[in-house]
Amino acid sequence: MLENKTLYIVVPCYKEQEVLPETSKRLRAKVMELREQGKISGASRVMFVNDGSSDETWPIISALHEKEPEVFSGVNLSRNRGHQNALLAGLLTAVNFADMIISMDADLQDDINAVDAMVDAYHDGYEVVYGVRSKRETDTFFKRFTAEGFYKVMKALGVDIVFNHADYRLMSRRAVEGLAQFSEVNLFLRGIVPQIGYKWTTVTYERAERFAGESKYPLKKMIAFAADGITSFSVKPIRLVFSAGVIVFLVSMIMLIYALIAKLLGHTSAGWTSLMGSIWLIGGIQLLGLGIVGEYIGKIYNETKRRPRFIIESVLNKE
Ligand code: UDP
Ligand code: MG
Repeated sequence: MLENKTLYIVVPCYKEQEVLPETSKRLRAKVMELREQGKISGASRVMFVNDGSSDETWPIISALHEKEPEVFSGVNLSRNRGHQNALLAGLLTAVNFADMIISMDADLQDDINAVDAMVDAYHDGYEVVYGVRSKRETDTFFKRFTAEGFYKVMKALGVDIVFNHADYRLMSRRAVEGLAQFSEVNLFLRGIVPQIGYKWTTVTYERAERFAGESKYPLKKMIAFAADGITSFSVKPIRLVFSAGVIVFLVSMIMLIYALIAKLLGHTSAGWTSLMGSIWLIGGIQLLGLGIVGEYIGKIYNETKRRPRFIIESVLNKE
């Protein structure tokens, strides 16, 4: 029964010509091993998604498919759309053929041997299996600091996110179909996947160094990605503006009283009291107003994303 479950491993690739020969070799060996163990079907594939690379990435992928179509598949995007979109393109293509899909990076930073544990978890009935990094020793201090800080900020802002989990995960077909219902354009998969629900678990692995080539996530992209994650999932920053408004408004009351007392005691020059009072009062009212408007914008934002309101896991009903 186990052996007729089909696994697709989806790998987004952007200018990965240096690593693809090695990545494909190792993934091929892994797929063969799992097939022999009877854990996955013969229809299982490694699906590379070329994210509009300008180098030899697509020719390499096509050659792999040409040579071994029963192991390698390819998806070619019309242009560079970024990691998250490339990954989604792969997931939504693979879901037509697969029972379970694992997504991983092309650079071999994610330990391929964790695939076994993910597939086992799938056979145990889990629909989402998150790969979690146990250590970050190979990352630079800066990367580790910023990445872990990011997870903490996300948690503090009330976003449901798995700590130290990147986009190395297994999803069942049902889970990917759930994902397909999220039609938002600003994709932050790590935040969306926990929203899908279903039975989930984690598998820990050690993160390795990039096998070759350099990171396709320079600081600028990292910051944009983090900002996207926060603003796509939390309206707390808007609430902060509102809270600041309340505080400034209260302070303005105190300042008004202080200015009046100072005036009555005669320590002030002409015009100071009224200026002091209006600056604080107007500042407070403006911030309050911004916070209120922001609250409505937050609502509009959530509406326009048209996220599914629920996903049903099972129904018990006798007609
Ligand atoms: N990637 C992509 N499109 C992009 C940037 C990156 O498909 O515009 C892929 C890249 O080929 C790799 C994965 O996303 O498979 C993660 O990128 P990278 O390893 O450079 O990120 P890092 O591990 O440094 O955060
Ligand atoms: Mg990497």
